[in-house]
Amino acid sequence: MTSPTSTDSSTGTRPLRVAVIGSGPSGIYAAEAIIKGDLPAEIDVFDRLPTPYGLVRYGVAPDHLTIKSVTKGFEKTFQDPRVRFLGNVEFGTDLTHADVKAHYDAVVYTVGASSDRRLGIPGEDLRGSMSATEFVAWYNGHPDAAAREMVLTAQGVAVVGVGNVALDVARILVKTPEELHGSDIAAHALSALEHSPVKDVWILGRRGPAQAAFTTKELREFGELDASEPVVNPAEIALTEAEEAAITDNVKKKNVEVLRDFAAREPEGKDRRVHLRFLVSPVEILDDGQGNVAGVRVERNRLDERGNAVGTGEYETLPAQMVLRSVGYRGVALPDVPFDEKRGVIANTDGRVDGRPGEYTAGWIKRGPSGVVGTNRKCAADTVALLLQDARDGRLPTAPHATRADVDALLRARGVDVYTFADWQAMDAHEVSTGQAQGRPRAKVVHREEMLTHRAK
Ligand code: NAP
Repeated sequence: MTSPTSTDSSTGTRPLRVAVIGSGPSGIYAAEAIIKGDLPAEIDVFDRLPTPYGLVRYGVAPDHLTIKSVTKGFEKTFQDPRVRFLGNVEFGTDLTHADVKAHYDAVVYTVGASSDRRLGIPGEDLRGSMSATEFVAWYNGHPDAAAREMVLTAQGVAVVGVGNVALDVARILVKTPEELHGSDIAAHALSALEHSPVKDVWILGRRGPAQAAFTTKELREFGELDASEPVVNPAEIALTEAEEAAITDNVKKKNVEVLRDFAAREPEGKDRRVHLRFLVSPVEILDDGQGNVAGVRVERNRLDERGNAVGTGEYETLPAQMVLRSVGYRGVALPDVPFDEKRGVIANTDGRVDGRPGEYTAGWIKRGPSGVVGTNRKCAADTVALLLQDARDGRLPTAPHATRADVDALLRARGVDVYTFADWQAMDAHEVSTGQAQGRPRAKVVHREEMLTHRAK
């Protein structure tokens, strides 16, 4: 069939109908880019959770509140009459790929990267070893992790990887309850952390300081904490003149300066220490004989001529009883959507899903887990530019059931309890007022059943 969609859209017979799957930053930025475009459009943004905002609510560290202020702009997008939020709708079950094709002229998949990469070393599944993703979901009150019992009995914690997520989890572990009080950390995590006996956190970089992925502002925070001080071994951050001259990236240069400052500091004798370690790789997580983490064996590395880490055969054991691997997120395939297993992303070319007219992708599930929240704005705008071009060129298939009422009727018939943006605003108001009564920015509702009880009047 030729595409009456573009004809209809351009003649105004009916608007272009777009489904966005996933209400994190890339999904909302995609909706924003569509309504800023030149075609009349209706956009339905779906999420499997009742709450919108994805990683801004469940990934960004609870003490980094300024990053979360982007939600003010997100609210504006959802308040536009052309955009609806349909929460608590799972793609693949509540709404299948066939349903989407029947009800929308185009779809943009923006589901992020919900899983994580593994280390592939012995002991990774011992009790006390988990992904930073799981730990982050727990302290941010993600409904899938809220029921998880997290026993914080470790005095030593090893965090593997030197990206910003590694810094987030390490900082949350060593902050005092007073430092965490002003954050929007979930109440269950605040009380568990209050009783945490943690003394030493080792952040482990397999390469050198000039290759670390974290950013300088986040690194500096370790020098400003109430009860914790940074520890850096000068030998591990020493660079030859050639290595120093090879650092062209300004962030990496500044990182090295901050690390040198940390290394030069006299110990202050604070109760907790964060050790920033470089040129070390975990090779085994040790068992206490009862299935619990009892230590981490690490091998010293050197860098080869291409800048890759190579083991030297020298080992040491860190007395850690908890291990958080923070070596990157990984995308998960959606039912009936082509997936590139190797890269962990939807198979796509510049955001057009391969071999699927009318299907697009943006954000981490398009390009992999990199960049900050704002990076997704351009990523989504680039994808939407192609979508709108395809609509204008008559390259979109046409949905037969093309009204909001059709979608509502389908979901109602399936017994799906759709959570609207107005419902979310009711939950949001409740969280803010309950939080403020405790002197906190918000008190998160963490259980899905409770979320669904907060409804617009
Ligand atoms: P990331 O920045 O990609 O860092 C991953 C780290 O894991 C790298 O240091 C990497 O080292 C290391 N790694 C990978 N495989 C390893 C292995 N097998 N053994 C040891 N180390 C290994 O990922 P992320 O920390 O998950 O962050 C994801 C994105 O979110 C990033 O763009 C980050 O900046 C962003 N983010 C930003 C903020 C913020 O702005 N405050 C907060 C959180 C996250 P190699 O370089 O050697 O591979």
